[in-house]
Amino acid sequence: MTKTDVIIVGTGAAGLFCALHFSRQTQILMITKEAVDKSDSFLAQGGMCMLRGEEDYEAYFEDTMRAGHYENDKASVEVMIRSSQDVAKELLEFGVDFNHNGKELAFTREGGHSMPRILFHKDSTGKEITGKLLAQAYQRDNITILEHTMMLDIIEDEKGCHGIVMQAADGSLEMVQAKYTVLACGGLGGLYQHSTNFRHITGDALAIAKRHNIELQHLDYIQIHPTTLYSEKSGRRFLISESVRGEGAILLNKNKERFCNELLPRDVVTAEIKKQMAKDNMPYVWLSMEKIPKEEIESHFPNILQQCKEEGFDAMKECIPVVPAQHYFMGGIKVNLASKTSMEYLYAIGETSCNRVHGKNRLASNSLLESMVFAKRAAEDIEGQISGVDFTDISRMADLKDYQDTKKLKEEYRTIVLDEIERERKSHE
Ligand SMILES: Cc1cc2nc3c(=O)[nH]c(=O)nc-3n(C[C@H](O)[C@H](O)[C@H](O)COP(=O)(O)OP(=O)(O)OC[C@H]3O[C@@H](n4cnc5c(N)ncnc54)[C@H](O)[C@@H]3O)c2cc1C
Repeated sequence: MTKTDVIIVGTGAAGLFCALHFSRQTQILMITKEAVDKSDSFLAQGGMCMLRGEEDYEAYFEDTMRAGHYENDKASVEVMIRSSQDVAKELLEFGVDFNHNGKELAFTREGGHSMPRILFHKDSTGKEITGKLLAQAYQRDNITILEHTMMLDIIEDEKGCHGIVMQAADGSLEMVQAKYTVLACGGLGGLYQHSTNFRHITGDALAIAKRHNIELQHLDYIQIHPTTLYSEKSGRRFLISESVRGEGAILLNKNKERFCNELLPRDVVTAEIKKQMAKDNMPYVWLSMEKIPKEEIESHFPNILQQCKEEGFDAMKECIPVVPAQHYFMGGIKVNLASKTSMEYLYAIGETSCNRVHGKNRLASNSLLESMVFAKRAAEDIEGQISGVDFTDISRMADLKDYQDTKKLKEEYRTIVLDEIERERKSHE
C-alpha cells in the first residue's frame, strides 16, 4: 500500500496547478491514465482569459453570464475573474511565454467576447502552460508523478474519503492511503464518437462519484464546438480554434455564401452550422481565412495550418471543411467555492468539477483559467486543515479482488455516465 498526504488524480492544468500550491512539506502523489503530455490541457489552442483592468470587469462578467445563459453562479464567476490577473502573473513567473506586442502582453478575441482579453502562445497555449507547470512539478521533491496509472475507485467510510484503488502501469492493483483526495480527471469526450478530447478522457470520476452517492450536477451540459476539421478518419477531431474566427475567418455554405455571425457564443454558432448542413445536405460547412493577413495566419496559427496540410488543405489559399464536435463538459461533480465535494476529504477540480462558473455554456478560453483558479483554492483549503487530519487505516475498506476485471469495470463506468447524461437530458425536456 502507498501512503501520501494528498493523492491528485490527473496531471492536466488543474491537477498540476493544485499540486504546485501545496507547501513543500506536504507529500503529493499524482497519477495519470496515460503519458503526462496526453491531457486535454496540452491541446488547448486559443488561450486563457484575463481581466484587462477594472474598466473591463463588468463586460467580462456579462460576456461570461450571457454565454452561460445566465445560469452561471455569480459568486464563482466573480472569483474566477478577480483571480485571473494573479494566475497570469504566476504563469509568467513559471516561465510561460505568452505572445507580446512589443513589451506589452498581446490579447486575442474569440466568440462571445466583447473585446480582446485572451492571452495566448501562438495556437498552442495549452502545451505552453501545461508543459511549464509540469516542468515545475518535476522540480519539486514533494511531488511524485506516476504515468499509465489508473484510478479504479475511491476508498471511503462514513467519515469520508481516505484514498483510492489504482491499477499501476504493470497492471498490478494497489490501494493508496491519503488524507485528502483530489479528482482532476478532465471531461468526458472519450465517450463520444466525435470529440476534440483525448479518447482516454472518459468521465471515470463521474461514474465513481455516482457509485458513492457523491453529488453531481448538470451532467447534460455538454458543449459542442462549432468548428473542428472535417475528416473521414476515425479518432480525435482536430479543433479549429475560435480565435481563427476572432481574427476574421468566416463561415460559408456550399455556394460559398456567408450564413451567420461567426462571433456569437458557441452554442448559437453550432446551431447555425447544423441548420446550414441540413439545408445544404452536406456533412460540413466551409471556413475561409481569406480575410486574415497571411503573416497573421503564419505566426498565430502554425499548428492549424500544418494539420490542415496533413488533411490535404492549404488554409492560406482555400476554404477548409469544418463540422461541430463534442468539446467541453460544463457539468460535473458538484463543488463549493473551495472545490470541496459533498464527501469529506474529497475535492474535485478542473473539467471534472462543477462550480457552475460556466452556466449552461462555457465562454471561450474561460476553462484553463477556471481550472487553475479553483485548483489553487482547493490546495489552499486542504493545506489549511491537513495538520489536524490523521491517516485512516484503509486495509479493510476495499478488496482488490473486486477490481481484477478492469475491462468490465471500465464498461460499467461508461454506462453509468451515459445513462446519467440521458436521464438528466430527459428531465429537462
Ligand atoms: C482541442 C481542445 C482545445 C481547447 N482549447 C482551449 C482554450 O483555448 N482555452 C481554454 O481555456 N480551454 C480550452 N480547452 C479546454 C481545456 O483544455 C480543458 O477544459 C482543461 O484543460 C481541462 O483541464 P483538466 O486539468 O481539468 O483536465 P485534462 O487536462 O483533460 O486532464 C485530465 C487528466 O486526468 C487523467 N485521468 C482521467 N481519468 C483518470 C483515471 N481514471 N485515472 C487516472 N488518471 C485519469 C488524464 O489522464 C489527464 O491526466 C480545449 C480543449 C480541447 C480538447
